[in-house]
Amino acid sequence: MLTVRGLVAGYGRVPAISDIDLDVGAGELVAIIGSNGAGKSTLLRTISGLISATAGSVRFDDVEITNRRPDRIVAAGLVHCPEGRHVFQGLSVRDNLRVAGGATRSQQHEDEVFTLFPVLGERLSQLAGSLSGGEQQMLAIGRTLMASPKLVMLDEPSLGLAPLLVEQVLKVAARIRDTGRTVLLVEQNAELALDVADRAYVLERGRITNSGAANELAGSRAIREAYLGG
Ligand code: ATP
Repeated sequence: MLTVRGLVAGYGRVPAISDIDLDVGAGELVAIIGSNGAGKSTLLRTISGLISATAGSVRFDDVEITNRRPDRIVAAGLVHCPEGRHVFQGLSVRDNLRVAGGATRSQQHEDEVFTLFPVLGERLSQLAGSLSGGEQQMLAIGRTLMASPKLVMLDEPSLGLAPLLVEQVLKVAARIRDTGRTVLLVEQNAELALDVADRAYVLERGRITNSGAANELAGSRAIREAYLGG
């Protein structure tokens, strides 16, 4: 579904990611793991058109989408849930979901969100800013689903959450995959990410240094080295 080849991007003259080759098949949950500053968010931003690739290509559903406008990439079915739970604090849960749904908004999509996150259904009129951190993260993911994506990119959904919530949020990623959507998950917590993912890529200093089945990578030396610098 997603094919990335030789992708290079960054913010100045020094690229933040280089020579990235990555594949995500339909129905998979693929994790990108790596330490702080490895380039994980930059990779997602480049795939979703938020920053420009200086080399390489991104194909989605057999269509070249490299450096396309972000809204066109969303319309093609590839939706990015960025790091940091950017919900509209002053809008209710219901309005946050409706704004996100836009033209594709439907009761079916709202129902999907409430099945995944029953707590949101119980708090429809509550202002998003008054929700707990975990609930805001659920709302941020729920908004992403309102666009009915074929592929959802989740950037560190566990960031800043209590340990119990971290596990819950990562299990949600698996449940989204189980409903037939494809998921690309960026996560710093390698152990938990490998627990829910089918496959994973290890990113170190902007390059992919390892990849494979999640259960084979779990506990491997490659993972320890990626985090501890060898
Ligand atoms: P984290 O988990 O901390 O977000 P990450 O793996 O997602 O880390 P990136 O955020 O992609 O890493 O950062 C990769 C590199 O690009 C880092 O060296 C970072 O300092 C740099 N960088 C990230 N955002 C910007 C920016 N807006 N302007 C300049 N440099 C940036």
